[in-house]
Amino acid sequence: MNIGEYSLHSIVTSKFGLDGGAMFGIIPKPLWEKQIPADENNRIQMVTRSLVLISDKRTILIDTGNGAKWTEKFKNIYEIDTETVNLKQSLLQVGLGTEDITDVICTHLHFDHVGGNTEYQNGKVVPVFSNAMYWIHEENWKLANSPGEKDQGSFMEADWKILAEKNMIRLVKSSQAHVSRDQLFQGIDILVSNGHTTGQILPLIYDENHTLLYCADLIPTSAHIPIPWIMAYDIQPLVTIKEKHEVLSQAVVNNWILFFEHDAAIEACTVRFDGKHYQKDRDITLS
Ligand SMILES: [Zn+2]
Repeated sequence: MNIGEYSLHSIVTSKFGLDGGAMFGIIPKPLWEKQIPADENNRIQMVTRSLVLISDKRTILIDTGNGAKWTEKFKNIYEIDTETVNLKQSLLQVGLGTEDITDVICTHLHFDHVGGNTEYQNGKVVPVFSNAMYWIHEENWKLANSPGEKDQGSFMEADWKILAEKNMIRLVKSSQAHVSRDQLFQGIDILVSNGHTTGQILPLIYDENHTLLYCADLIPTSAHIPIPWIMAYDIQPLVTIKEKHEVLSQAVVNNWILFFEHDAAIEACTVRFDGKHYQKDRDITLS
């Protein structure tokens, strides 16, 4: 798919599993497991799905997935699989090496979104994308570096510390309104949401014909389209609900394509409103 000056490539960078109860908050299991079945440990199968945007000027990667710095213990807890599919292999399949990436947009600094920012080489943590600038919202940067007790388990300093030391981080500032919209690059705006975590960047790629929203953890899978289906991880659930109303109403009116980072089965879709509920409309495949 092409939007404006960019060709878009969807790549899966790992498989993993998170607790289904945590993924669906207050929604009872008999309802959510009809959408995504649970394994014997109550985990649901998910993926980390990145988006690559290639123009004449830039090669942009949105999020880097779980990465490869995991101990066996954590791999088992989260069922992280970077053997059948991983970031470098998936980039190669679209003809890219790590050195080709000019910009990495980090939607937020939770480990399943930025684990691939860095890797171990000879026992030291180094940047994976040596020629890239890494874009992070300043509010999320502040939170990640002094998280609260609820969310500290989601942040791993090894995913960004070396980038700061090497001056490879660019902090994004934005207006403070709910779901504010600001330009990041030519043809790419960002919506900033604060319900899941503060300063989460949702990239919006657009031209006169198409608009695609990278939903990150505002709407992590297509099963999270209904308004009350939100994650227990969210630090401000009522803000998430307000933000979902704002985003989904615009998505219906303007026929946006929603792109899902964690949905193992559905890459993207459009949405409709039946007068009461938002629902998945048409499945979209980018390639
Ligand atoms: Zn998150």
